[in-house]
Amino acid sequence: MIELKNVSKWYGPVQVLNECSATINKGEVVVVCGPSGSGKSTLIKTINALEPFQKGEITVDGVKLHDPSTNLPKLRSRVGMVFQHFELFPHLSVTDNLTIAQIKVLGRTPDDAKKRGLKMLERVGLIAHKDKFPGQLSGGQQQRVAIARALSMDPIVMLFDEPTSALDPEMVGEVLDVMVGLANEGMTMMCVTHEMGFARKVSNRVIFMDVGGKILEDCSKDDFFNHPEARQPRTKDFLNKIL
Ligand code: ADP
Ligand code: MG
Repeated sequence: MIELKNVSKWYGPVQVLNECSATINKGEVVVVCGPSGSGKSTLIKTINALEPFQKGEITVDGVKLHDPSTNLPKLRSRVGMVFQHFELFPHLSVTDNLTIAQIKVLGRTPDDAKKRGLKMLERVGLIAHKDKFPGQLSGGQQQRVAIARALSMDPIVMLFDEPTSALDPEMVGEVLDVMVGLANEGMTMMCVTHEMGFARKVSNRVIFMDVGGKILEDCSKDDFFNHPEARQPRTKDFLNKIL
């Protein structure tokens, strides 16, 4: 579903991705972790073509991002993205947040978009809030709306960038529950998160990035958590700090 080959990126003189290669198969859940500034957000944004890269190749569902003739807006519409800070439109109702991109990007009729959006809102347990505005919801609820909004676009893959790290602790669980549900239904997912409980429960693989934008580990969940002797020293340091 996603293939990265030797992807490198620089901001001016600073290299932020260093020869990153990884493959994510359909239905796989891959957790990306690593210290702050190691390039996790940048990596995930290149997959959605939100960030250009200077070297290497990325293919998403057969579409080559590095090919200048690729229709990037079309690709982007099929890759769901959930950010740390929800990024809902504050002046639009929950329902309008769910439908606007379906109508403007996918060309769905307002009726179809509403049907699909409300179905996804029900899925994340928030149908009772359909007429509210984002500011009237808790952080956990806003993030669940953001997930419902991404799902309304019928994505082929979902990318999450620290979806729970801006939330009060008591709201983390409700968002992770939705993500666990998605994973169990077979959604292809790439999640930047330090929620190692989530990683243990549903991930297939764990990628560890280190400063300088290098993928230091890409291994099975079992190897990552249960075989510390086979891990790099930097990975062990990191795990000791967060576990
Ligand atoms: P992470 O998500 O792992 O914390 P990021 O991908 O956000 O890391 O950032 C990787 C590196 O790229 C950091 O050193 C950061 O300062 C730098 N960086 C991120 N965005 C920009 C930008 N727009 N311009 C310049 N440098 C940036
Ligand atoms: Mg980040």
